[in-house]
Amino acid sequence: MHKETRMSKKAFPRLRRPREPRLRPCAAVRQREWLKTLPVVRKGPLPPKDWTPKHACPCCDYITLAERGIGLICPVCWWQDEGLARDILNLPSPINRELTLSAARENFQRCGVCDTSLAAFALSVAEREKFARRQVEQTDVAAQI
Ligand SMILES: [Zn+2]
Repeated sequence: MHKETRMSKKAFPRLRRPREPRLRPCAAVRQREWLKTLPVVRKGPLPPKDWTPKHACPCCDYITLAERGIGLICPVCWWQDEGLARDILNLPSPINRELTLSAARENFQRCGVCDTSLAAFALSVAEREKFARRQVEQTDVAAQI
């Protein structure tokens, strides 16, 4: 009679956590070697090799950009460069919070940065003077486009 109520070991085997599948050492090495053969995917353009500023910023005209068209941010006015092809005054720039270049230039004249929300990060005039400035005639060319 007692035998019937007692839980038998056969009916209720001890629960064990299932063993995790583990790669054999040689298979793990093979997998690591295979991963090395995959191409490295890089998102976005390469940074410039030479960071000396050579190009003028389309917004503030200070020569601050090492290269055009690779998304560099101007340290004077904080405008993110989109390349020569997008230096169009009334074209909203998606990477600059949909600001147009003309609006950004107006903001720069007013508070020293391209976007009024960045006014706290504006450089002082003395700090700005560390950068050379493009001639005004050349900016008029961009204005005609
Ligand atoms: Zn700038």
